[in-house]
Amino acid sequence: MTDSRDFRYDIVIAGGGMIGASLALALSPLGLRVAVVEAVPRGEALQPSFDDRSTALSRSTQRMFEAMGLWEDVISAATPIRRIHVSDRGRFGFSHIDAAEQGVEALGYVVINRVLGEVLQTALSKTATVDMICPARVVDIDVIGDAASAVVESSQGSRQQLDCQLLVAADGANSVLRPMMGICAKKTDYGQHAVIGNLLPEKPPEYCAYERFTDQGPLAMLPVADDRAAFVWTVSSYDADRVLGLEDEEFLAELQEAFGYRLGRLSRVGKRAAYPLSLSKALRLTAERAVLVGNSAHGLHPVAAQGFNLGMRDVAALCDCIADARASDSAADLGDPDLLARYAQWRRDDQGKLVRLTDGIVRLFGSSSPPLRAARNIGMLGFDIIPGVRSLFARHMMGLAGRLPRLSRGVPLK
Ligand SMILES: Cc1cc2nc3c(=O)[nH]c(=O)nc-3n(C[C@H](O)[C@H](O)[C@H](O)COP(=O)(O)OP(=O)(O)OC[C@H]3O[C@@H](n4cnc5c(N)ncnc54)[C@H](O)[C@@H]3O)c2cc1C
Repeated sequence: MTDSRDFRYDIVIAGGGMIGASLALALSPLGLRVAVVEAVPRGEALQPSFDDRSTALSRSTQRMFEAMGLWEDVISAATPIRRIHVSDRGRFGFSHIDAAEQGVEALGYVVINRVLGEVLQTALSKTATVDMICPARVVDIDVIGDAASAVVESSQGSRQQLDCQLLVAADGANSVLRPMMGICAKKTDYGQHAVIGNLLPEKPPEYCAYERFTDQGPLAMLPVADDRAAFVWTVSSYDADRVLGLEDEEFLAELQEAFGYRLGRLSRVGKRAAYPLSLSKALRLTAERAVLVGNSAHGLHPVAAQGFNLGMRDVAALCDCIADARASDSAADLGDPDLLARYAQWRRDDQGKLVRLTDGIVRLFGSSSPPLRAARNIGMLGFDIIPGVRSLFARHMMGLAGRLPRLSRGVPLK
């Protein structure tokens, strides 16, 4: 039973996290009527998207924010990555990627999710065509004739039905809309948690990001403001509670042991949090009048810092398909099966590659089997000496490989 019914929307986006909020802003030049339904207000401790994590933004995401007119605000709170240094604990040698060698000013930028949330939500509050419905959750969906509908429940328990042409699920890796759409996902638990936080290293990171593969899993140190470093430390799930509960000095000693002394002595660790790590991949990207974007379509291991960036390319491709349909017919149906099929086909390759790449890295570097250890040493060697391999890899990491939608090339929709 719903208390009211609203027919106003072209698109309803379930989930106003990093991807849902970005999609609503990316669509705004098209003048569509968009509703974003978000369960948890920004600033609340339990907000699962705009939290204390740091996200490495790829070059293609940078270009998108440029095309959306938001980059000035993002970059004022972001730190550039000019070098990436990859090493394997207990082995000699390392690999590296350099921005200058790739002919770019930066390989990516690091921004704190909470800060990115402020930029996105300030912009949304100024966008007249977007209604933000928060705190509220989508609790049911339906398709009748030429309309999809979302039943939205407010935090006080009142319900309203939003009718639209197209429903977008941007509700994260544990999407509740995905099964409502009749879409299954393949899930693999890595048996690992990512412990995140930031600290002060003795030597400033100087725009270098470090990735070190340890027996427990990868450990990343990203450069952030004030010469601090944000760490993403993968530990076994069995050990996560113990690691989180350590006193600061004990925690730093264990982290130092895992990372080594490349940045000198590590000190002044801030608040820590842990995230269970799994791989999820939806078996389809569309249903009748409905699409998946971002983590609802694919949840990756953070080893290559690609989950959000991949989701932003979903956003860019969906915007391209919608803009093209409306350019050829100003009344084009946004739930048209051909439009949705074009989106799904466009995204299949990029998503599949990133899922295989991140999963492959986790398995290759997580294995203690001698043949796999030998393979990764040869891999790291080949990465450095075979001409072109490093550039090809860097292009993928920067999100510049394959056929790119307009926004990912930095071209505004209008
Ligand atoms: C430790 C860690 C480090 C990472 N680092 C990087 C990185 O450096 N670079 C990178 O590209 N990616 C990174 N990622 C991945 C990145 O965080 C995710 O890909 C990104 O947050 C996905 O955004 P999303 O909006 O799709 O989903 P989410 O961030 O999960 O947001 C989903 C939103 O939907 C809302 N919601 C859920 N259900 C409902 C409902 N029924 N109704 C309404 N709203 C609902 C939630 O409240 C939430 O706000 C990292 C991930 C982890 C865990």
